[in-house]
Amino acid sequence: MEISHFWNKKTEIGYFFHFGKDTHNWTNVVQTIFDSSFATAAKMIYSHRSQEKKLIANYHTHTIRCNHAQGTEEEYIERAIDIGLKVLGFSDHVPQPYPAGYTSNIRMGMNELPEYVSTLLSLREKYKGKIDILIGFEVEYTRAYFDTLMAELRKYPVDYLIQGQHFVPDEVNGRYVGFKTDDEENLKNYVDFTIEGMRTGVFTYLAHPDLINYKGDDETFQRHMKRIVEASLELSIPLEINMYGFLDRRNYPCDRFFKMASDMGASFVIGCDAHRPDFLRQPDKISEFMDFLTRNGIKPGDNVIELRDWRTVKR
Ligand SMILES: [Zn+2]
Ligand SMILES: [Zn+2]
Repeated sequence: MEISHFWNKKTEIGYFFHFGKDTHNWTNVVQTIFDSSFATAAKMIYSHRSQEKKLIANYHTHTIRCNHAQGTEEEYIERAIDIGLKVLGFSDHVPQPYPAGYTSNIRMGMNELPEYVSTLLSLREKYKGKIDILIGFEVEYTRAYFDTLMAELRKYPVDYLIQGQHFVPDEVNGRYVGFKTDDEENLKNYVDFTIEGMRTGVFTYLAHPDLINYKGDDETFQRHMKRIVEASLELSIPLEINMYGFLDRRNYPCDRFFKMASDMGASFVIGCDAHRPDFLRQPDKISEFMDFLTRNGIKPGDNVIELRDWRTVKR
């Protein structure tokens, strides 16, 4: 049995107990703990908390297939082991079933999907006992292509999906969310669409929730973005603090979002969003990042989260 937690300022912490492949949340396992040994469980919590500044998991990792990342999978894995990770989840940009004639240059093609999965499956075997390799995808929710995509992904042993809403409503007909805007309508559409995606029930967490590059005032920004935090609380979807965006000095992660989310009692997960092996880093080695967390009332944990069973969701 392994105990893990992610962070929550209000409740201090949310624990999950992993029994092999099955996961149970705190309330489900309280009886189990009493039945086994509460003393043992408490000690394990303590040992995790005593080193709580170190991540042992990262679920946001890319591969060269997306055309804007570098390094081999083994270089990412070796780097992850070097910095002390026990779990490395690959979540490359998902291939999308776009219409014939439209080619995306920021993701793998549908024809690369089997090889992505088989490569990671064989690396999982190779590194067994050293690090757990998970197979995931970073997925945009769309209205036009989502059901087709889910049906395709179900053919493969994909462990989890994270939502990364880079486009509204989609890449073919939409707008890139990271472009600067002072139009409240763009902000509102991003929030509405992101929540629609969260409600599909397939996503383990929401990557860079504050990707929207809204240049307007804080009050307007927070009035809309608050709804994403409310949805994350209602649906138990942790919000990602994106380390790549921070190191690249992008508009995300931003204080005006994470201060609000933290005050509202949201749960968080750090995502390295590694597009290069050396982007896998421990936050406590980056003092500015630690300052960001501290001033927003967020404490680092081991970063292990419960994976959502996306396969059983009817879509
Ligand atoms: Zn990317
Ligand atoms: Zn990413």
